[in-house]
Amino acid sequence: MPPSGPPRSAVAKMCQSCHVRPVSTYRTATQVGPVGQREGAAGLTTHAPQAAQAVTLPTTLDEAVAALAAMPAAVPVAGGTDLMAAVNSGQLRPTALVGLGRISEIRGWQYQDGHALLGAGLTHARMGRPDFAALIPALAAAARAAGPPHIRNAGTLGGNIASASPTGDALPVLAALEATLIIAGPGGARREIPVSHLLAGMEMLRGGELIGYVRVPLLHAPQVFLKATGRTGPGRALASVALVLDPARRGVRCAVGAIAPMPLRPLEAEQWVAQLIDWDNDRALVPEALNAFGEYVAAACIPDPAPEPDGSVAPLPPAVLHLRRTVAALARRALGRALS
Ligand SMILES: Cc1cc2nc3c(=O)[nH]c(=O)nc-3n(C[C@H](O)[C@H](O)[C@H](O)COP(=O)(O)OP(=O)(O)OC[C@H]3O[C@@H](n4cnc5c(N)ncnc54)[C@H](O)[C@@H]3O)c2cc1C
Repeated sequence: MPPSGPPRSAVAKMCQSCHVRPVSTYRTATQVGPVGQREGAAGLTTHAPQAAQAVTLPTTLDEAVAALAAMPAAVPVAGGTDLMAAVNSGQLRPTALVGLGRISEIRGWQYQDGHALLGAGLTHARMGRPDFAALIPALAAAARAAGPPHIRNAGTLGGNIASASPTGDALPVLAALEATLIIAGPGGARREIPVSHLLAGMEMLRGGELIGYVRVPLLHAPQVFLKATGRTGPGRALASVALVLDPARRGVRCAVGAIAPMPLRPLEAEQWVAQLIDWDNDRALVPEALNAFGEYVAAACIPDPAPEPDGSVAPLPPAVLHLRRTVAALARRALGRALS
């Protein structure tokens, strides 16, 4: 089937005018168009210093894995919001791309044994909608906070995880939910790993593997995501807190994002506050307990410096102290909202 879109000569002409190397080859499992007309690959015709030489647009997860296996140098691209920023800044020069935007099986979700199986291709915009918010409120709140609208329309859950940026808003939520990833590999292979293992570098995506789905427990209880940014309006997190209640296990799970390379879980603070809660009656806590939880979380994530040999402890630098206070406030508010 011939490629759709303008003839090759027109593509080359367009690329010259953009000072972008013309696209010389198109490889696709089904149908292909010029770079930039593909669904889910926002911005591929921006003024990249070097365009990819081969673009494959599979329509199933296994086709995408096969395409990666056939082209080991190829890079998967979903919404392109992180990837194209790297290309445009010259950090990345992919020689081939495997676009994931046409794989419909990973753009929705399904229920499975008390869990939601979320496709890696779910966009932030889709996760921010009310039906998704009724299912996993904290993830919906994080999705609504993830950048300006054009980024939320293109950026995906899988891209957020694979990028593993400290400021990835979905990451503390997935850590608090103790979500797992279903990784698709060559030959239809599937393996499941905790999200936290990937973020901590304990397990890596192997060559040719893709994040296919994210398995999230459905807790049917309040969940909160709060984010502090350095300015009003959309912005990257200075600090974020995800907090979920798990009434079945009488647990509180909390993760703090953006202040370290990966989300931090203050496990002792979680256990301490969980035993204060009257799970069978009114779960509200007195303000002093909420404050103490905030301080506990903040001190666990941003501890005091180690004592000097003479036993004295140097004060935290002002910026770090400010960050610690921000984390304490976010954790206190998140718990208060979850219990109200
Ligand atoms: C202006 C701007 C503002 C932003 N603001 C925020 C913000 O506030 N909060 C936030 O969290 N993020 C923010 N982002 C980052 C970005 O939008 C998100 O991380 C987004 O979720 C990335 O998804 P994507 O589909 O665009 O990933 P892509 O850019 O397509 O891919 C990112 C990386 O993930 C890999 N990848 C993608 N999908 C898969 C998969 N299924 N399996 C394996 N690897 C995969 C790609 O190879 C690439 O290495 C912002 C970005 C921009 C440009």
